[in-house]
Amino acid sequence: MIPRENLIPWREIEKWMCVHCGYCCKEYDVPLSFEEEERLRIFGDVFVKGKLGVYLKKNETCVFRKNGRCAIYEIRPKACEKYPFFFREEGEREAEFEFQGKRFFVYVDKNCGGIGKGEEVERVIEKILRRILLVV
Ligand code: SF4
Ligand code: SF4
Repeated sequence: MIPRENLIPWREIEKWMCVHCGYCCKEYDVPLSFEEEERLRIFGDVFVKGKLGVYLKKNETCVFRKNGRCAIYEIRPKACEKYPFFFREEGEREAEFEFQGKRFFVYVDKNCGGIGKGEEVERVIEKILRRILLVV
């Protein structure tokens, strides 16, 4: 679980892209849905059981972090796809985000190495909402 003090409202950043720095793969546990666990089973012993379910196994970092990249980037779990963005039902005004008539409160992990680089943050959040939260 990410510490609350690491999260800042999305309006505090302008751009974002993943620069594959590996911070998130090392620092955070990746929870898996049942479907994700089934899908990743072909890779063998890549799971650990935790209090709240099944997670990706880590040694120093995630087992899928290889040669400075995510070896399963195109099919990585939803938790990784959403990171460094976190979508809440409540929050402060600075974190409000309207999308297709719905209101979200979006926060960003300030430690992600991709902050300030890449695409305008509003476009990034819209893409994530479209891909992950609304298409289930
Ligand atoms: S911390 Fe950010 S930039 Fe680094 S690998 Fe994770 S998502 Fe990509
Ligand atoms: S699945 Fe990929 S993006 Fe997710 S923690 Fe592992 S190496 Fe990082």
